[in-house]
Amino acid sequence: MEKKELMYEGKAKIVYKTADEDKVIVKFKDVATAFDGKKKGEIKEKGLLNTAISAIFFELLEEKGIPTHYLELIAADEMLARKVEIIPIEVVVRNIAAGSLVRRLGFPEGEVMEKPILEFYYKDDALGDPLMNEYHIFGKKLATAEELKIIKKMAFDINEVLLAYLKEKGIDLVDFKLEFGRDKEGRIYLADEISPDTCRFWDSETKEVLDKDRFRKDMGKIEDAYREILARLQA
Ligand code: UDP
Repeated sequence: MEKKELMYEGKAKIVYKTADEDKVIVKFKDVATAFDGKKKGEIKEKGLLNTAISAIFFELLEEKGIPTHYLELIAADEMLARKVEIIPIEVVVRNIAAGSLVRRLGFPEGEVMEKPILEFYYKDDALGDPLMNEYHIFGKKLATAEELKIIKKMAFDINEVLLAYLKEKGIDLVDFKLEFGRDKEGRIYLADEISPDTCRFWDSETKEVLDKDRFRKDMGKIEDAYREILARLQA
């Protein structure tokens, strides 16, 4: 499948049209951003590492019956995906306290949640992706009650699948962000990516950070961490 016009360019990915109006090509970039794009850098080979990592997760989730936009890998840093309209909600699931949960609510870093915590953020750069609840979502008509019910169930199901799978790989799934989209028939699919850019992964034994926090906090060895995640998923 050949790339046609550029449809959308974001911070980490570029989406191209294809000859098939229901399919797009998603190209993953090496550019890394944090803090709403205020911090910028490049992580060598991030595009191909995140493509390979996301493909493994999407294939696993499809196997477990979760509909994703992923169709196939077409290059080291490109995947063919279903064309969906992205719902502008970032859905975050948390199993262990880190990041904004520690900063905003004072949870002790590393505290294991008795039940996973689900949060919604409004995907809007100009507003700085603010936290919101279901009433805001309905007020802004971002999703219907029926769609949100599906999205919440999918988010918790995805968490269960990923937790069990990653445990076997010696990785703690601390938290992660998901995005969903609807196709032209209104069906909901998991979209975007699942990678060390969008998840917090800690080594189960040493609690070493194996994700984008190494970039956010200038911890060094960023590429090594991304490569380590891919190697463990492939093992
Ligand atoms: N996250 C993301 N994109 C964002 C914000 C957060 O992928 O724009 C992911 C982040 O990598 C982490 C989870 O969502 O796995 C929760 O992030 P948090 O709210 O703690 O924000 P942060 O501390 O990164 O500002």
